[in-house]
Formats: sequence, C-alpha cells, structure tokens
Amino acid sequence: MPIIDFHAHAFPDSIHRFLPASLRSQAKFWLKPVMKSIHQAQPYMRLVPDSIRKKTDELSALLPLPGLLIESTTQDLLLAMERSSVDKTVLIAHPPHMSNEFILKMCQAHPEQLIAAVNVPVGQKSPGAKLKEYIAEGAKLLKIHASADNEGADSPRYKALLKVASKAKLPVILHTGCFHSHIFYKNPEASHAQNFAPWFKDYPETQFILAHMNFNEPSVAFDLAEDYPNVHVDTSWQPSEIIGEAVRRIGAERVLFGTDWPFIGSNISVGLKRIQDCVNANLITSEDSDLILGGNAVKLLGLAASDAGT
Ligand SMILES: [Zn+2]
Repeated sequence: MPIIDFHAHAFPDSIHRFLPASLRSQAKFWLKPVMKSIHQAQPYMRLVPDSIRKKTDELSALLPLPGLLIESTTQDLLLAMERSSVDKTVLIAHPPHMSNEFILKMCQAHPEQLIAAVNVPVGQKSPGAKLKEYIAEGAKLLKIHASADNEGADSPRYKALLKVASKAKLPVILHTGCFHSHIFYKNPEASHAQNFAPWFKDYPETQFILAHMNFNEPSVAFDLAEDYPNVHVDTSWQPSEIIGEAVRRIGAERVLFGTDWPFIGSNISVGLKRIQDCVNANLITSEDSDLILGGNAVKLLGLAASDAGT
C-alpha cells in the first residue's frame, strides 16, 4: 500500500535562491531539533484557556517563518518524502503565496509524486469557469479556505465552485478550525466545521475532507462525520489520542494521513510517528493504519493500482 500525504504545500524558490545552499543546509541541521520539539508540543496548546490561546495563536503563527526560509520548496518536499518513504502528496495551492499556476506546474513536472489541489482566489472572475480550466490542467481536488477568504458558507462564489467540483467528482478539502492568526487569516471563525454542514447535505455525492479535524475542537468534526457519510478528516495537527478517537468514532475508512508540510518542521516524521504510536497503543489496528496512510486516499482519488505506487 502506498503512503499518501493528503495535505501539504510548497513555496516557489524565489526567496530561497538568495540564500547560499550551504547556509540553508547548516540552518536546517541546527533548526530541525528545535522545530521538531515545537511541533511535538503544539497539540497541547489547546489545553491553554481560550482567552490566552487567542494571543498565543497569534504568536505561534509566526514560529514557522524562519523554517520556511530553509525548507519549503518543491525540491525540499520531494526530498522529505523520499526520506520518509512517502509515495505521493496532495499539494495544495494558497494564492497568492502558492498560486494555482505554480502548484499545477509542479504537479505536471512530478506526476508520479504530486497531486494538485487548487484554491480559486477571491476576486477571480467567473470562478466556476476558472476551476474548469484548472481541472483541464490537472487539478484533482478543490481547496476552500473560508478564514483566508473571509467568506461565509452561503457565498455565491463558493456555490459556483461546489457546483463545478461536484459535477467533476472532485473531492473538496476544507480548512477547518479557528486558529486565531489575523496575519494569515482575515476571519478565523469562518472556518468552524459546523458552518459547512449545509454543503454536506446539499452535495451528498461530493466527498469533503475536514482538514485538521477542526483543530482545537475535533469532536465537532466527528459529530459531522457521524451525521454525513461524505465527510472525511485529515490527521494534520492532531495528536495520537485524537487520531485514535477519530477512528473509534467514525471508523478508519474516513481518516486520511495529512501533514501540512512545511509548516513548523519535521511534519512528515512527526505525523507518521503519531500514526505508529496509535498502533503501538492499540488505539488502531495495523489495517486501520494502512487505510489512513494510503488506502483511503487511493480510493478517494480514484488512483488505479498501477499508479498508486507499491
Ligand atoms: Zn494547509
């Protein structure tokens, strides 16, 4: 069974090219253990009281920035995948920093490893027609980030996109959870998973993936997945015990391995270890682990056995 990361990004190497390669690799070596520790500690931030966490969220959103200078390009991703034996990755656009055109180009250049998820930006004329163009250019998924867009679930623009996605049978990844970073997100509350419940009902044939399991409130994501069979979750930013709880509540068949690489650092190794820890603690079986790590993604993306890797 292949290992498929269902949630990652990559930046163009425009900034990185001004940093000498030797400096980048040295910085990577020294920064790695620090970023890994921060990543491992991150799930426990949810234990901080709400009022304080809104402030710590603003600060912790800045933490990945130095790491992005040394590890965030497509080449860095391909290397990180190779080191952790990840076969394929869903590469998600986030315009303007990671444009759809850039993501599609990277996926066309590495068709064996990378799968394109496009995110049609606010202000795009005829968003539905643009999405059709992207599909013709190889887009396999649609991403909607309501917090970054500052749009409600009733927005006509989202309706136009969902209409095209559902007709083309494209799975839709939704950023979920209210991470309070106003530097990156115009409206954190817009991504509360509950907001999208009407979509799950109105597009029953469309498969929705709740990225990050609604972050600090995963039980809301599980409630929705229990109510709607077309709702899936990804494992990014969740500790082992929550991944185990996801499988207990909704079954392993709708849980997808996702890392949100390259944010913070060591995402792939930390993410894989969390799944393995679930198996070791008997929270999930090794069959569940196979489904989460790749089996479910193969099915969802309609990958043929021949192009699903080994
Ligand atoms: Zn992401």
